[in-house]
Amino acid sequence: MYKIIWNKSKKKEIFHILAIYSDGMHKTILHLDLDTFFVSVERLINSELRLKPILVGGTSDRGVVAACSYETRGFGVHSGMPMKMARELCPEAVVIRGNAGTYSKHSDLVTDIIKENVPVFEKSSIDEFYADLSGMDRFFGCYQYASELRSRIMRETGLPISFGLSVNKVVSKVATNEAKPNNQLKVDFGYEKPFLAPLSIKKIPMVGDKTYQTLRNLGLKKVKTVQDMPVDVMQRVLGANGRVIWKRANGMDETPVIPFSDRKSISTERTFDRDTIDVVKLKGILIAMTENLAYQLRRGEKLTACIAVKIRYSDFNTYSKQMRIPYTSADHILIPRILDLFRTLYNRRLLVRLIGIRFSHLVPGNYQINLFEDTEEALNLYAAMDHIRQRFGDKKVLRASGMGAKTIGRMQNPFNGQPPIVLAHRKQ
Ligand SMILES: [Mg+2]
Repeated sequence: MYKIIWNKSKKKEIFHILAIYSDGMHKTILHLDLDTFFVSVERLINSELRLKPILVGGTSDRGVVAACSYETRGFGVHSGMPMKMARELCPEAVVIRGNAGTYSKHSDLVTDIIKENVPVFEKSSIDEFYADLSGMDRFFGCYQYASELRSRIMRETGLPISFGLSVNKVVSKVATNEAKPNNQLKVDFGYEKPFLAPLSIKKIPMVGDKTYQTLRNLGLKKVKTVQDMPVDVMQRVLGANGRVIWKRANGMDETPVIPFSDRKSISTERTFDRDTIDVVKLKGILIAMTENLAYQLRRGEKLTACIAVKIRYSDFNTYSKQMRIPYTSADHILIPRILDLFRTLYNRRLLVRLIGIRFSHLVPGNYQINLFEDTEEALNLYAAMDHIRQRFGDKKVLRASGMGAKTIGRMQNPFNGQPPIVLAHRKQ
């Protein structure tokens, strides 16, 4: 007997599904997502915040909302909105300046528990995970296994988390979003289409505001109408994306779970034609390298949580030093830390033959995590700089301190043999 199970939720409609036999050939994919992650961490630290509406983000008038509690959403508040506007909409909200370090630590705690319990998992953002549980049902029953994993995460970290379970990533992600807050939902094999049919097309991963408007203008509102449309029509209207959206609307998705590895990294290094002891020049090169790699991170929508500097002296002795940091992709956070590492590493006062830097512990993510320190202007500056780089090439915009470095060494394949960064973990 297979059925869709809503756990502990009386608000939600219960799906009555008839028995169906599974051929055992399909996959079982789990999607886990921490509920209002930054807000939950703040409430864990300070229990007085529990039932209060909360805004996390830059606390100045120019700051941006990085996360908001469910209580504020009824007032029209959403993340990414200027803090000033959010405060006007919801004056009773408690405003908290976020702390990327604290959130990174709690994200790691959750990651460790998942790592211990699931053989193949993907960390798809600081607070989101996919796991391939295929084959496990023969031993445990995937739903039960996932439920126990969820309970364990909540028990050991104190953070609410929701999950969706189905045959693929797309349906599981939608299921998690339907289950939220603090709940779980299983969509049985063969019931992907009826599960998706009554939902708004906005709920299909990849349908952003623009696509949503295009579809709305065509008179499409529910997933069901997309399901009933010929795929060719979707393709004519939206191009290649149309076909993908149509497949997703029909509950089809073959994207694999990409195993998470702490070792996945992006790096660059430079060997000098003539060994040098010019510290100003070395620092300038490190700054330029950091800017370039940070740009690669942002372009691939990634964050790093571990940075390293490497020095090879003229006697060929090589030293490197690494450091864990809060998840980031921002130059102004990375540059001072890279220079700190260099200062502690460069202590032999010998000629230097090579320097390099590496970012590892990469996870998909965007500026969101740095919104606490940043004002809208800072974010716009990054967006503008990256836009110029995209149009005119990597080295058209550089910080003045990095300008002395004319060439920063040929970029290695940014992912050490992995596919190019822009192709990795496309946004769904
Ligand atoms: Mg989340």
